[in-house]
Amino acid sequence: MVDPAHRRSDGLEVEGAGSPRSCVFCDILAGKEPGFIVHENELAVALLDINPLARGHCLVLPRRHVPWWHDMSAEETAAVFQLAREVAERIMASLKPEFVAMYVRGRRIPHTHVFLVPTNQGEPFDRHFNALEGFQEAAQSLASLGNPEQLDLVWQQLKIL
Ligand SMILES: [Zn+2]
Repeated sequence: MVDPAHRRSDGLEVEGAGSPRSCVFCDILAGKEPGFIVHENELAVALLDINPLARGHCLVLPRRHVPWWHDMSAEETAAVFQLAREVAERIMASLKPEFVAMYVRGRRIPHTHVFLVPTNQGEPFDRHFNALEGFQEAAQSLASLGNPEQLDLVWQQLKIL
């Protein structure tokens, strides 16, 4: 456990001067750890995932340590997704998958990283998401969320227009 005084507002534990104590992506961006960097711009970097879900699986991250993608600035958001598009175009041209899937989570490493996964039918990643979508449509525990009253309720809470 770390003294609350040493916990940053973004939840990272720190030591000494206030740099993140352990963030593998910050270490790669600082040159302290090796990384297979494939592309970069002023605010974002793209590199190979070293535990790929498919050949050519890349990650796109902001240079700044931002735990969740929705905490990025507007400029970082634009930079990250522009870089993601450029890397996806490169993946399509070089590796020729059917398409490049994208998702962002960050549960394990809370430094925003966009997954770019070259996808072909029947490969493990494709089967995983097919199974997840089957679960989404069939799970009893989720069924009530899809009834019209529940959808209207959450629509009232979320709509911005
Ligand atoms: Zn970081």
